[in-house]
Amino acid sequence: ATPTALMAGTGKAAENGVLFRDGEAIQTMKDIDTVVLDKTGTITEGDHSVTDVVAGEAGVQSDGGVVESGDVLDEREVVRLAASAERGSEHPIGQAIIEYAGEESIELAELEEFDSVPGKGVEATINGSRVYVGNVTFFEEVGIEIPPFYGSRLDELEGEGKTTILVGVEDEVVGIVSTADTIKDDSYIPIETLHDRGIETWMITGDNERTARAIAEEVDIDPDRVMAGVLPQDKIEKVRDLQEEGKNVAMVGDGINDAPALKQANVGVAIGTGTDIAIQASDVSLVRGSLEGLVDAFTLSERIFSKIK
Ligand code: ADP
Ligand code: MG
Repeated sequence: ATPTALMAGTGKAAENGVLFRDGEAIQTMKDIDTVVLDKTGTITEGDHSVTDVVAGEAGVQSDGGVVESGDVLDEREVVRLAASAERGSEHPIGQAIIEYAGEESIELAELEEFDSVPGKGVEATINGSRVYVGNVTFFEEVGIEIPPFYGSRLDELEGEGKTTILVGVEDEVVGIVSTADTIKDDSYIPIETLHDRGIETWMITGDNERTARAIAEEVDIDPDRVMAGVLPQDKIEKVRDLQEEGKNVAMVGDGINDAPALKQANVGVAIGTGTDIAIQASDVSLVRGSLEGLVDAFTLSERIFSKIK
């Protein structure tokens, strides 16, 4: 590209909230054939809220005090335990559960001990009992068996695209809290446009497979191109795998977790106000937080680099 064409092009893009790190980023963009989209915060708003609470047996009241193994808890108690344990967490899922407890005027308990396990959940000691809040992988690791009653409720909720969080006390599951995160209105068309241009799209997420597939289907991403249950530190591996298959990969993400994968990608794209870390790791920033900006970036790169020969 002539320097003037590049300058004019990047200036115009910047007005639309598409910021390129440099001219090279624009050039690399035109060879991209595969786009990996982070689910939470990229395709969805990243703003969880609680949708369902499942307890062992509705209507059974506990005294709100010490929870003994074998107790059957009601929904409020399940929320109280989950929200209390999440007090130490900054994860959007934890925030959503705490907010819900507030809306329901459920008072939280004191935390005696707290630990968070990235991509899995949190554990805490509350009134002397060990409380676990997290996904199936986490419960498997801790060694808490999931009874069929909860297993089928997990299936149901995840089939609806909801994120499911198990709540356990000592060695037993006592309930499920599910959250949902709305798909951005402006995710649908850009994904279609990428497909129309012959670009393959993938979704990557720490969320479980079923939930991820339900969301993928909703935005027309091939459910076989969903990489689910991916731990933050493993996202980079997934990008590398695609590159080893010969693909030119753009990765779009918003979080701290995404930075290494953004760096690894041929083009790293930070979306939204995002985190500084994601922006620093990226070649392109989509300031408006919409995938429409990604389509604009492709269009610009194509336009500039087809002119120059
Ligand atoms: P994402 O790719 O959606 O950003 P994360 O890696 O942050 O996912 O988390 C992946 C999964 O780990 C979540 O869907 C959830 O099941 C579980 N998880 C992570 N943090 C928490 C938490 N604080 N409380 C409960 N579950 C959690
Ligand atoms: Mg995340």
